[in-house]
Amino acid sequence: MTYLVTGANRGIGLEFTRELLERGESVVATARNPERAEELQVLQGEHADRLAIFSLDIADVASIEAFVKELGARAIDVLINNAGILERCGELGEMDFEVIERSFRVNTIGTLRLTEALLPALRRATGDAKIVNLSSKMGSIAENSSGGSYAYRASKAALNMVTRSLALDLADEGIIVFVVHPGWVQTRMGGPNALIDTETSVTSLLDVIDNANASTSGSFKEWNGNTIAW
Ligand code: NDP
Repeated sequence: MTYLVTGANRGIGLEFTRELLERGESVVATARNPERAEELQVLQGEHADRLAIFSLDIADVASIEAFVKELGARAIDVLINNAGILERCGELGEMDFEVIERSFRVNTIGTLRLTEALLPALRRATGDAKIVNLSSKMGSIAENSSGGSYAYRASKAALNMVTRSLALDLADEGIIVFVVHPGWVQTRMGGPNALIDTETSVTSLLDVIDNANASTSGSFKEWNGNTIAW
């Protein structure tokens, strides 16, 4: 099968790419700056026949258009919308609204725009295609007991809603769409004190993705398979 992973140059996206290649899948890996994605380049040296690396900034319309054009008539079986940002927008009273706008532009609008642009590629999949959006427990309204983090929380909550609508709109075509929370993971975003490493998160997430079916579509899953309240 062919998997497309965004933000594949580091963190969780890089680990998805590594594990998928290890198990024999084909991967379309995207990065904002492929020329600086050294670990991806090493993987390409090892799996040149199954790894294709493309340049893609999901917040840039022209970049999405150029990428989709370059992708051509390729079929995508599983789209892993992993790229995302966590930037501090400050406390109430001193809020940085540019950070909030940027967070929506990447986490919500960028993910939706890319997904829409890739629908033809997903429709070319032989089996039921899957779209997996990396959200966060911080985007759960039910789980918000500490406030703050307006930019990240709101942009991921909006991504959750986008996912639910996509799941409903694409159900007739058999395309499965859901969100996952990867856990608190040791990456540049998660920091060194995070609870799990990328391998623990991604190995488990791949189980969740493998087992996803029509009843998973429109749901919010944790890395260990538990369902999270919206
Ligand atoms: P990292 O910060 O380590 O990596 C983020 C990736 O996203 C990088 O490859 C980055 O590229 C890419 N990216 C950022 N902006 C854009 C953009 N505009 N276009 C394309 N790519 C972009 O994060 P993680 O690996 O930890 O997180 C991956 C996903 O998991 C995110 O969506 C995050 O919100 C989510 N998540 C992570 C948690 C954690 O504990 N780590 C917890 C909950 C959710 P570049 O190198 O060019 O900046």
